[in-house]
Amino acid sequence: MFKNIGKKIQGYSMLVFVIEVFFSILAGVLAGATVQSVLWGDEAEVIGPGVGFLVIGAGIFLAWLGQMRLYAYGKIAESCEAMMKTMERMEAMQRAQLPVRKCANCGAVLDDDAFFCTKCGTRIEK
Ligand SMILES: [Zn+2]
Repeated sequence: MFKNIGKKIQGYSMLVFVIEVFFSILAGVLAGATVQSVLWGDEAEVIGPGVGFLVIGAGIFLAWLGQMRLYAYGKIAESCEAMMKTMERMEAMQRAQLPVRKCANCGAVLDDDAFFCTKCGTRIEK
C-alpha cells in the first residue's frame, strides 16, 4: 500500500487539480452566462464574460494553491523513499565487507562478539 507512496500522492494531486480546473471552467461559464442574462444592453456583453473569467481564474488559482502543497508532499515522500533505499543498499554493502571471524582451532564461523568457539570451545583471542 505504501510502496511508491510519493509517486501516488503526486498522481492523485494532479488528477484532483485537473478535476478542479474542469469545475472552475464550468462554474465560470455558468456564472458568466447567468450575469449576462440578468443584465441588459452593452454592459452585459462585457461584465458577463468578465465575471466568468474571474471565476475561472480564481478557481484555477485556488486549485493550484491546494494541490501544489500535496504535490510537494509527494515529492518529499519520493525523496525519502530514495534515501531509505540508498541507506539500505549501503548497509548491505557494509555487512558484506565485514571480515568473517573463524575459530583458529576448528575453523567454525564465529559471532562478532564470541569469546569461545560454539563448536569446539576454544577461547577466542580478540
Ligand atoms: Zn572451534
